[in-house]
Amino acid sequence: MSSFVKIVFMNIVSSPSQPALVLLRDDFRITDNPALHAAINSGKPLICLYVHDAATTTQGVVKWWLSKARATFAATLQKMGGDLAEISGPATQIIPELAEKLHIDSVFWNRRYDLSGREQDTHLKSTLQDAGCTVHSLPGRLLHEPWVLRTGSDQPYKVFTPWWRALQKLGAPGRSLPAPEKVTFFPWPDDLKNLIFKESEISLPEGACDAEKEWLCSEETAHELLETFLETGLTHYSTDRDRPDKDGTSSLSPYLRAGLLSARQVWHATEAVMRQKPHLADQGWTFLSELGWRDFAWTQYFYYPDMATKNLRSEFDHMPWRDDETLFNAWKMGRTGYPLVDAGMRQLYATGWMHNRVRMVTASFLTKHLLTDWRKGEKWFRERLADADPAQNAMNWQWCAGTGVDASPWFRIFNPVGQSEKFDPSGEYIRQWVPELRALPDKLIHTPWQAGGDLLRHTAVTAGKRYPAPIVDLKTARAHALELYKNLPQN
Ligand SMILES: Cc1cc2nc3c(=O)[nH]c(=O)nc-3n(C[C@H](O)[C@H](O)[C@H](O)COP(=O)(O)OP(=O)(O)OC[C@H]3O[C@@H](n4cnc5c(N)ncnc54)[C@H](O)[C@@H]3O)c2cc1C
Repeated sequence: MSSFVKIVFMNIVSSPSQPALVLLRDDFRITDNPALHAAINSGKPLICLYVHDAATTTQGVVKWWLSKARATFAATLQKMGGDLAEISGPATQIIPELAEKLHIDSVFWNRRYDLSGREQDTHLKSTLQDAGCTVHSLPGRLLHEPWVLRTGSDQPYKVFTPWWRALQKLGAPGRSLPAPEKVTFFPWPDDLKNLIFKESEISLPEGACDAEKEWLCSEETAHELLETFLETGLTHYSTDRDRPDKDGTSSLSPYLRAGLLSARQVWHATEAVMRQKPHLADQGWTFLSELGWRDFAWTQYFYYPDMATKNLRSEFDHMPWRDDETLFNAWKMGRTGYPLVDAGMRQLYATGWMHNRVRMVTASFLTKHLLTDWRKGEKWFRERLADADPAQNAMNWQWCAGTGVDASPWFRIFNPVGQSEKFDPSGEYIRQWVPELRALPDKLIHTPWQAGGDLLRHTAVTAGKRYPAPIVDLKTARAHALELYKNLPQN
């Protein structure tokens, strides 16, 4: 963009052949994309643009996932006769410059709700408006805007259940928008071809070797997954959703993260199934309430923008977290000696995803048994998850650590052995991710240290790797965590 001279803003006079600019961010879909839809309805030829802006970039597996989502979206646009232009640089500078160069008088985007995104968009909006552009900022990411639901005393909700009841009362989100039938694109001018940024292929972080085969990235795949889940998975959702050994959940989180699918598409498809099969209404509502947690996380993030770095319950500012890199690394690499924890951490490392129940168990283990600051765990998840989402990740970490506004109390400490016996009873999930333990009988798979010399030695040798002994004693660690909490100054 350096080739651009300093801009002198002129009021732009509108004409139907002037291009409309659609900014894509985390919304790589053709269907139910309000910004794209509104831009098409303006009757102007479109320029679809993605800006690689260092100020809002991601890292880790999600960076790879978003680049794939962008590429599939670009391929779809190409099939429709257009393209996704990509430019690198500060969005607040580049976009007004481009608007001026191309005489763009309307800009469309779907809203962002994180603080830096909001600040950037506010700045951009006023610059564009000053230059005579009309800016259309539309709701496309959530079921409802985060500021819509307030308590009776006009405060943001802090607790999920009353918030969820209020959301149910509010009713279904707006209808989903169909795929566009015909789109006219504005050809990217030859004299600006030098601005097009060709991103080199984003490689996966070390160890994420199964992510490529785990996740097929496309809008169609997202819809197929949703359909299959609603046809076959919804029936047992409320029980199977806690079972990492089963395909009990939708696996839609990475698709929602990249906006390959919208939350309201999920909502309406689920409601349609509930109408056709009323006996599935309870399962449907359970599923929708999980989707509700996503909106709730974004509502919290809207009101507490530093939620990923700051305890929402300030008494935890006094928690004497332990800074033990050996323990932290053992957790990260799935070498804690607790099979369910290790299975989850290895699944995360290899695939970029982990089952929700196991996310809760591993987070509880890190914060309460290992007394490690939840922010270290949050950061690790953010680097390794394909669905890494700033609001959902931060809210859930604060929930698990007991530091959030609506959180699991600190004294609720998951026992990784009990959780393993309950939710992976035959050890199928553990065997998949901890091959050293594959040959252990079901009874011992949750507590391999009880296997005794010969059996444990045999299984370890079979896999060519020795499985570690437990890195902490659960009983002692639990008692210590409770003691520390008791001594925190209570607010
Ligand atoms: C410590 C921790 C960190 C997490 N980090 C993330 C994250 O970065 N990104 C992310 O998408 N989810 C996160 N979650 C929530 C949850 O684990 C995943 O959304 C879920 O496992 C995704 O699988 P699914 O799509 O099959 O879920 P399903 O059970 O099929 O649920 C459907 C959708 O509802 C939403 N959802 C479900 N559970 C939750 C929840 N507890 N909180 C918020 N939304 C939820 C997701 O968008 C999910 O795709 C985290 C949970 C924990 C405990």
